[in-house]
Amino acid sequence: MDAKQKLDFLIDNPHLDAKLKQIAEKVRDKQRIAFDEGVYLYEHAELSYLGVLANHIREDRHGDLTYFNRNFHIEPTNVCVYDCKFCSYSRMIKQREEGWEMDVDGMLDIVKKYDGEPVTEVHITGGVVPKQNLAFYADFFQRCKEHRPELHIKALTPVEYYYIFKKAKLSHYEGMKFLKEAGLDSMPGGGAEIFHPEIRQQIAHDKCTADQWLDIHEQAHKLGMHTNATMLYGHIEDFWHRVDHMERLRSLQDRSGGFQTFIPLKFRNKDNQMENVPEVSVIEDLRNYAIARIYLDNFSHIKAYWAMISRDTAQMSLSFGVDDIDGTLDDTTKIYSMAGAEEQTPAMSTQELVELIRNVDRHPVERDTLYNVVTDYKGVVFEQEQKKNYYALPVVN
Ligand code: SF4
Repeated sequence: MDAKQKLDFLIDNPHLDAKLKQIAEKVRDKQRIAFDEGVYLYEHAELSYLGVLANHIREDRHGDLTYFNRNFHIEPTNVCVYDCKFCSYSRMIKQREEGWEMDVDGMLDIVKKYDGEPVTEVHITGGVVPKQNLAFYADFFQRCKEHRPELHIKALTPVEYYYIFKKAKLSHYEGMKFLKEAGLDSMPGGGAEIFHPEIRQQIAHDKCTADQWLDIHEQAHKLGMHTNATMLYGHIEDFWHRVDHMERLRSLQDRSGGFQTFIPLKFRNKDNQMENVPEVSVIEDLRNYAIARIYLDNFSHIKAYWAMISRDTAQMSLSFGVDDIDGTLDDTTKIYSMAGAEEQTPAMSTQELVELIRNVDRHPVERDTLYNVVTDYKGVVFEQEQKKNYYALPVVN
């Protein structure tokens, strides 16, 4: 049975709950589900039901295609003026001796390490410190572009930008325009956490608000830039807070159309101020991916960070709405490992990523940041794979 037949079969099940049947029919008819239906899915839908709906949407849009990219990260600092309770990464200003703060030359040295390597993107994010201001990043973006013009710079989040623009006395639009002209290409999705103030106040009380986060993305979209969005789930929020979060993103996307990808981020409880909060199960991770795929009908892609959720869960997520599993990383990020992710040294070769995707019968495609196809791996045979086919069988007389 293909994904469409599975959905029809599910809708025809006479024992299916009436509201779940109605939601499934909406998905079949490409209609948007409402806020209360999103909450109903979280509260009442089983994983198998969610998988059928989410996989139908995923395959309708992308077939078996599964995207990844070849990127590396720069984390300019792990010192931060803010105090997010879930953060395992930052060292407050007072713990500065445990932290690092790079200068522009140090960041460029990392870029130069990849000279001649077929990476397409540098992903930059980290803490917030006064020294890394507007002039600092404009200088880095310019020099990075001079050195390697085709490398896509996906950098910082509204958390950093709100701080930087305020200090520079620039509006969000003026600040984004200035940095775009310096070389910034797009923005990753971090810093969103949970938008609703009831939760945001408790876990991230002193950084940019939901409205400020959304406005900075909107200004970037006005300038023609593409951005991503995240949601930190599985801690003290209720299900309806997650739906509220996605609703705010869906509304902005209706207006601006600049989001590419939604990335649910699982809360991890190692070495932070929320160690007493238990982590949710893998089942809940998969349910959450699926509901995101169903709710965010105007987002093209749903991404799972394999380095955060483990390779096995990333493979499973491809049947629950996910069509992108991020990049090779090359062990250049500490954000996941410091929070207690399964991958403590996150790096995968292109071949490993391709095999991970193929092993669950999906079709691997290397993309650039804007989802242009770099290499279609259908039918591509790696050298080591070829060798495997030529084992000589022992001759038994
Ligand atoms: S999550 Fe980001 S903004 Fe918050 S403390 Fe950590 S590094 Fe700073």
